[in-house]
Amino acid sequence: MSDIADFIRDIPDFPEPGVVFKDITPLLADHDAFARAVAAMADPWSATELDYVVGIEARGFIFGPPIAQRLGVGFVPVRKPGKLPPETTDMAYELEYGRDTLEIHTDSLHEGHRVLIVDDVLATGGTLAATSALVRVVGAEPVGLSVLIELAFLGGRERLNGVPLHAAIGVS
Ligand code: AMP
Repeated sequence: MSDIADFIRDIPDFPEPGVVFKDITPLLADHDAFARAVAAMADPWSATELDYVVGIEARGFIFGPPIAQRLGVGFVPVRKPGKLPPETTDMAYELEYGRDTLEIHTDSLHEGHRVLIVDDVLATGGTLAATSALVRVVGAEPVGLSVLIELAFLGGRERLNGVPLHAAIGVS
């Protein structure tokens, strides 16, 4: 059986020079590899008490829902601005160049809800850190972070404010 890492394609200099983009589409196209990736991202959390999986637009929407189904909880989306009517709570965060904002439905999570946050890639950690902060603002607790790929050489893990992270694939 081949390693799930074998289904990730490196695209050099995308979207800008010097960045190696991790293309997950070959993994998604392979039924068995996709299923094993979902299991590798979900199963380390099977003994953790959870109320929801939160997935981050866009590629967190690919892995989040099957992970939520596998763990027996619901799915809550975190989206780019202007996509979630009616009422949202926002969190701005710094990118390498500029700022971005993430939104969650204000009525989606409540005090005491325990949440697993899912995305495809951990790079600098800004996206996951902002999503954890957003979950806290609406009163819930981020109890874990699950990614398919951790780009460990970027040190993103240090920015996660102590929320436990599991990465199915580490790239050093
Ligand atoms: P960051 O906030 O720097 O940790 O970046 C994480 C977000 O950017 C994730 O939502 C990823 O989808 C995307 N991302 C960052 N770097 C890469 C990369 N090298 N390949 C694919 N996606 C990436």
